[in-house]
Amino acid sequence: MGLAKAAHNGVVACGEYGEDMRDNIVNEQVIVNNMQSSLLRGEFLVYIQPKYELMSEKIVGGEALVRWLHPQLGFISPSRFIPIFEKNGFIYQLDKYVWERACQILREDMDAGRPVLPISVNVSRIDFYSPNIVQVFEQLIEKYDIPPRLLELELTESAYVENPQQIIEITKELQRKGFPILMDDFGSGYSSLNMLKDMPVDILKIDLQFLSDSDKEDNGRGGNILNSVVRMAKWLHIPVIAEGVEKQQQVDFLRTIGCECVQGYFFSKPVPLEVYRDLVGKGFSE
Ligand code: C2E
Ligand code: CA
Ligand code: CA
Ligand code: CA
Repeated sequence: MGLAKAAHNGVVACGEYGEDMRDNIVNEQVIVNNMQSSLLRGEFLVYIQPKYELMSEKIVGGEALVRWLHPQLGFISPSRFIPIFEKNGFIYQLDKYVWERACQILREDMDAGRPVLPISVNVSRIDFYSPNIVQVFEQLIEKYDIPPRLLELELTESAYVENPQQIIEITKELQRKGFPILMDDFGSGYSSLNMLKDMPVDILKIDLQFLSDSDKEDNGRGGNILNSVVRMAKWLHIPVIAEGVEKQQQVDFLRTIGCECVQGYFFSKPVPLEVYRDLVGKGFSE
């Protein structure tokens, strides 16, 4: 059952696709007690947030983001349950489920003759502790017979900080196998620039939310940082995606500094698969 439909049935507070729903205050123990059965019952849904090329405003791909709609507990936000799953190790099971859904979606699109755009999935720093993560990805693309370039891997800077050597090795191997590597939340950590010289990175994602505070306090400072990151990335021939884009003013600024791609509520929230496919289809029929 889709989130929107569930909302109409009165299971959860109303809100478009669940994005505006208030987080239910769910106790950690309750989350832990329910996670496994929820996974088995298909109560974790994969939503997709489109990514747009800024100049053409065409969709160039999407990010898979997990949504938990529990029939009794209601909508639980990822920022609530992901840290708990990272602590108890369940994140690896959930991530493998999301990765497989992404592969299924790509296969369905290919079979249906729809436009096939890359989908990025999140890889938790905890997933890197699993000894066979590379094989897991290889087996998935083999099973669904999809080219690795369609399955983009988003990893956060914090993973690198925690365990640099191992992360670099595994990430390099994944890149060699053809999976594009996206550095998520770039600039949020302490060693962003240092990391960039060691880590294989195909695309940088910079979250505007990290800049908004300094922007308010110190006129233009956030903008300068953003501008510098985009310039530096261009120098290194690494494309940049700005995420968390909410305002026209931000879009205008990103255009002037030559940022290639954007993702954010201004363009689209994360949406159910059917809605995402409609959006992609419209872009191709224009
Ligand atoms: P993230 O990977 O940085 O994902 C972007 C988050 O920003 C998403 O929150 C998205 O809904 C939100 N967002 C997108 N555009 C805007 C905007 O314009 N304004 C604002 N305020 N927010 C925007 P979400 O889906 O709640 O996920 C939060 C975090 O939870 C993600 O941050 C990611 O770290 C984690 N997460 C979500 N799904 C998964 C998953 O399947 N696996 C793992 N390991 N982590 C996940
Ligand atoms: Ca992400
Ligand atoms: Ca991010
Ligand atoms: Ca984030």
